[in-house]
Amino acid sequence: MRATTIHAPGDIRFEEVPDPRIEAPTDAIVKVVAGCICGSDLWPYRGHNDIDAGSTIGHECVGVVEEVGADVKDVRVGDFVVVPFCHSDNTCVHCRAGVQSACTGLGFTTSGQGEYARVTQADGSLVATDGMPHEKLIPSLLALTDVMATGWHAAVAAGVRPGGTAVVVGDGAVGLCGVLAASQMGAGRVIAMSRHESRQEIARAFGASDVVAERGEEGEAIIAELTQGVGADAVLECVGTDGAMKTAFAVARPGSTVGFVGVPHGVELPVRRMFQKNVGLAGGMAPVRRYLPDLLERVLSGAIDPGRVFDLTLPMAEAAEGYRAMDERRATKVLLQP
Ligand SMILES: [Zn+2]
Ligand SMILES: [Zn+2]
Repeated sequence: MRATTIHAPGDIRFEEVPDPRIEAPTDAIVKVVAGCICGSDLWPYRGHNDIDAGSTIGHECVGVVEEVGADVKDVRVGDFVVVPFCHSDNTCVHCRAGVQSACTGLGFTTSGQGEYARVTQADGSLVATDGMPHEKLIPSLLALTDVMATGWHAAVAAGVRPGGTAVVVGDGAVGLCGVLAASQMGAGRVIAMSRHESRQEIARAFGASDVVAERGEEGEAIIAELTQGVGADAVLECVGTDGAMKTAFAVARPGSTVGFVGVPHGVELPVRRMFQKNVGLAGGMAPVRRYLPDLLERVLSGAIDPGRVFDLTLPMAEAAEGYRAMDERRATKVLLQP
C-alpha cells in the first residue's frame, strides 16, 4: 500500500510500504476512507521526539473493515468504523474502570495516514455506524478518533459542571473540542484562550462565551478579572507545554482541578501552588473508546460538529504539504483523503 512515512524532522513522504496484515486473531484491517494530521504528529516532525526513519505515521482514521481475524465477532467486513487512536479490549480490569488508554492489551493506529490501518483488539476498539455515513459527517466522525474524545476527556478530568466557569488553555483542535465539550456539559461560561482569529471564530461557534487573546501573565490577569478574582471552576490544559500548564494553574480557583490532555513536553508542575491552593491535576492520554458511543450519538444527531476543526483537505499524496501547513499554523487541522 501507499502510506505517509517520516524519515527525519521535516521529511514526510507518501510512498510504498508493506501492507498491514492480520497478526493476531483479534486484529482487523481497515481500508482508510479519511485520515488526518494530529498536533502530536508535529512533535517528531519538529525533531522533539525520536524518529524511526521510514516508519509510517498517523494515528487518526475512519474507514471500512477490509478483513478480520478469526476471533473478531462484533465487527464485520464492510462495516464503516470509527477507529480510536488507542486500541483496547474493553474487558480488562483497566478498561472496566474506564481507562481504556491503559488497557493491558493496548495498541495504537500506526498508519492512519495511509491506505490501510491495522487495528489490534478490533472488537473492543472499533465502533461501527449503521451503514455508510453521509459524506458530510466524515470530518466529524474522524474528529472522534482523537481530538474530540481528548477534549471531552479534558472536560471530564477537570470536572466541568453545569453553570460553572471553564477555561480552555490552547486553541489547537483539541482545545477547540474542549470548548465544545465544556459547553455540551452545560458550563455557564466557557473562556477560550486563543490568539488566532480563525480559531477564535470556531471557539465561539463551539460555545465559547469569552475569548482571551493574551497569553501568560497578561492573559491570567484578564481571566482573574472575568472571574471576579476567584478563578475558574474547571481548567482544561490542551497544549502540553510548561507555559500552558503554568497558566492553567494560575487561573484555576482554589479547590478546583486542571484536566490535562496535552502530551507534556518539558512541563514542571507548580507543586507549591497546587498545595497552597488545593488545586488538583487529573487527566492524561484519553480513553477514547470510553466516550465513543456517546460522542457518536451526538454527531449523528447533529448535536455536535467537531469536524469544523478541519480547515484544509488534501489528497494523502500531499501529506508533506499538510504537515508544513500545520507546522506554519496556516492550518488548524488537515484532513487527508486516500
Ligand atoms: Zn492525535
Ligand atoms: Zn483493556
